[in-house]
Amino acid sequence: DPATRALIERRDRVLGPSYRLFYREPVAIESGKGVWLKGMDGRDYLDAYNNVPVVGHSHPAITAAATAQLATLNTHTRYLTEPVIAYSERLLATFPDALNRVTYTCTGSEAVDLAVRTARHATGNRGLIISEHAYHGTTVAAAGISPSLGPNNPLGDDVVTIASVDTARIPPEQVAAKLEADVRSAIEQLQESGAGVTAIILDSILSSDGVQVEPAGFLAPLVDLVHEAGGLYIADEVQPGFGRTGEWWGFERHALTPDLAVLGKPMGNGIPIAALVGTEESQRKFGEDIRYFNTFGGNPVSIAAANAVLDVIEQEQLRQNAAEVGRMLLTGLERIGADDDRVLHVRGAGLFLAMEFADADGAPDEALAARVVNGMRDEGVLISASGPAAAALKIRPPLVFDSGNAEQLLETLERVLRSTR
Ligand code: PMP
Repeated sequence: DPATRALIERRDRVLGPSYRLFYREPVAIESGKGVWLKGMDGRDYLDAYNNVPVVGHSHPAITAAATAQLATLNTHTRYLTEPVIAYSERLLATFPDALNRVTYTCTGSEAVDLAVRTARHATGNRGLIISEHAYHGTTVAAAGISPSLGPNNPLGDDVVTIASVDTARIPPEQVAAKLEADVRSAIEQLQESGAGVTAIILDSILSSDGVQVEPAGFLAPLVDLVHEAGGLYIADEVQPGFGRTGEWWGFERHALTPDLAVLGKPMGNGIPIAALVGTEESQRKFGEDIRYFNTFGGNPVSIAAANAVLDVIEQEQLRQNAAEVGRMLLTGLERIGADDDRVLHVRGAGLFLAMEFADADGAPDEALAARVVNGMRDEGVLISASGPAAAALKIRPPLVFDSGNAEQLLETLERVLRSTR
């Protein structure tokens, strides 16, 4: 499309170098509604990729709440206002009782950064344990625990990775044993170096490690080991949080309560707001000793949007929808996978699913994943690829994705897979 190409040329002349745009032929977007994006080419695209508009693009309840607040008051966050307190009470009620304090930031990265500072100050240690292909954000501290940014991205000092969970190739019962051995050795390494153990930081469905969901509960023994070594468990809920897995929070699938939890992306349905939630105990020392101030974190407009997001999740029963439509998608993906020997593995929790491809030798088939992602885009369905080798399709739609949308996705996937034979 020449108009899109002209736009990309203009983009490249003014925007700083950053991530590539998605798709061989990037989609220029004009507007969004629910699960649909309207392209500048006049086509409608089914958005099965985006976890920011958790209640759907341009949801009228979010627009109304944010614009009404903007017309009333918006300012930095050092005034005493009531809505931020009411929202905090409501948000914390979705967590286990022990998690009873929240601090607002604007981005997930800032919240990750604050979590690391808080945990280091609380424990007096420096060492951090992370997964091999983790992504946690953009600040110096967050990028320092984000090996998925590539081999040229330096990890921070005292950061130790544990091997990724390759549930496509390692049987579930061996996954847990392998992770435990890895965490034990990470703890030893940090204790021997004198860094000590600050925390293990994990996204409970290991999104950037390729959406690793099995076996449910595998995180609990790892967290026990870290606690025994004097460290904390920081749950990165930026991806699984706000109902995506069918539960409010991803750590619930593991029957765990974190010491600190980082919230982000879907929280304001696109209006920037993120947060660090934690036990009062884990945050007390930092709060007493160090001043923290975030100019825009939890400003009135962001809080109004975030509050409306909780309204819609509850009113439209989106957690239940994520569980139901997610199950339907999983069953459909399994059926497609059973008939296609290029599909190595299918997995998912709620509306976060992956289909992993392997070649005849069992090696990750990144090329096929890319062909399918681009083929789906050409057919009007937006998904992406994930995992260390980008050989797994990543399906992560807004939580208003319904059974008709799921059928369309599955039919399109079947057709595209056939065309790549
Ligand atoms: N943690 C995870 C798991 C993420 O996926 C992201 C964003 N992709 C972040 C943290 C950082 O959030 P933000 O981009 O809002 O800074």
